[in-house]
Amino acid sequence: MAEPDWSPSSWKSKSIAQDVEYPDKKRLSKVLSKLETLPPLVTPSEIERLRYQLGLVQRSEAFLLHAGDCAESFDACTHENISAKIGLILSFSLILIWGARLPVVRIGRIAGQYAKPRSSKTEKIGDREVLSFRGDNVNGLDPNDRTPDPERLLSAYFHSTTTLNHVRSLLTSGFASLHHPRDWSLNHVRSPSLRKEFEHIVEGLSDALDFSRTIGVESGPSFEQGGDRGTVGEVDFYTSHEGLMLEYEQALTRAFPLPSAVQTRAAAAAQTAPPDKPKAFYNTSAHFLWIGDRTRQLTGAHVEYFRGIRNPIGIKVGPSMATDELVRLLDIVNPLKEAGRVTLITRYGAGKIDDHLASHISAVQKSAHPVIWICDPMHGNTHTSSSGLKTRNFSTIISELTSCLKIHAGSDSRLGGVSLEFTGELNEEGFSVTECVGGSMELSEEQLGLRYQVRSLIAGNFLDYDRCQSFCDPRLNFEQSLDVAFLISNYFKK
Ligand code: PEP
Ligand code: MN
Repeated sequence: MAEPDWSPSSWKSKSIAQDVEYPDKKRLSKVLSKLETLPPLVTPSEIERLRYQLGLVQRSEAFLLHAGDCAESFDACTHENISAKIGLILSFSLILIWGARLPVVRIGRIAGQYAKPRSSKTEKIGDREVLSFRGDNVNGLDPNDRTPDPERLLSAYFHSTTTLNHVRSLLTSGFASLHHPRDWSLNHVRSPSLRKEFEHIVEGLSDALDFSRTIGVESGPSFEQGGDRGTVGEVDFYTSHEGLMLEYEQALTRAFPLPSAVQTRAAAAAQTAPPDKPKAFYNTSAHFLWIGDRTRQLTGAHVEYFRGIRNPIGIKVGPSMATDELVRLLDIVNPLKEAGRVTLITRYGAGKIDDHLASHISAVQKSAHPVIWICDPMHGNTHTSSSGLKTRNFSTIISELTSCLKIHAGSDSRLGGVSLEFTGELNEEGFSVTECVGGSMELSEEQLGLRYQVRSLIAGNFLDYDRCQSFCDPRLNFEQSLDVAFLISNYFKK
């Protein structure tokens, strides 16, 4: 049901943070017209299923894993990268499902996460000051290719489509089945103890699935009940990206009738008869979109756009968010206080979380807004290593995460999930990337240079470390990610 005074383009009357200025406006409008005619990437019923599942997360009946790259690149749209990412997300969720006995809702930062917000419009490369790299959907990493090019939006659409097509085929061809967890690249795990722990889970799971098959419950409904399919052992997977490029988001925003199950549920909740064929605006480029910490101004264009779409949304909450501002923001984007609509992604930094989280939780509790709280322990914890590489320390990431769990527990609240930047990518010799220090593989600062951002280093001859870093924030590798999964799983086991 459309919001009053809202249209997919009403954001244009507001001031816009992180705007991209295209020199070729004619070309831009041609590209946008083309995008408007292209088919949706995701469907309203998938979006509604995610909303329903997020409602379960909010009621503490499931856990949300939001993860993937900081930014995808067009070059990384390969079978190896996509399957490594899906494999890691599945392995991570398996540890939680098995250990904490919690269903996991999986949302990848994938199939559209191309744009990057930047703190400065320009950056210095060598002795030149050039426009900052804004992501593959805007301009090129090559310093000679920094003029925003509208064609890149079309290319983003097609790379998203290709990625999503491959994700869907992995999901339906057995790779993602819980019956085959060994296919999710266990060979990435070098630490013997981690490997043993994971093997143990896989064996237990395979026994449990065999047992289900034997007693004939194999094709019962999956945990999402409201969903329209579900076989024990098969998994759902959703896509997401930061909704930064509003022209693109607008072009993929389409009006659809609300699915009848949703109409009936809404009418039952309001104790009224279902209205006649109500429509809603769905952003069909991804199931879930989030507003970044740099674009969440109450009167800004991004908040205006987000308030009108039916998709479940995320909002990044950093240390500069005032408590009353947070509640006003929730009033704007979720006036009817609908469950499953808003996920707050907190990212304060390990040293700052104690100053902010408890008061944010308490303000939201007083407002009676239903939200899902998830912890992003990555974005408040980035620093430059002594060798000049941008990195994150595993122990600082864990410190923010454990503080977050503790503060929620002490505030009559619950952490509903995590938002991570991780990668299952390996280099040509089969080694994990080395971008974050620490973890069970005890990666040191000196080792960072070994396999930092392998893909970009290999892909572009013109790249050096400095430029690699502007592509992507440092990501946890496979082993470090499983370390995080075991920590959360053990916490919820108690
Ligand atoms: C991100 O999620 O990659 C990001 C830029 O986060 P934030 O908006 O929280 O800084
Ligand atoms: Mn990032």
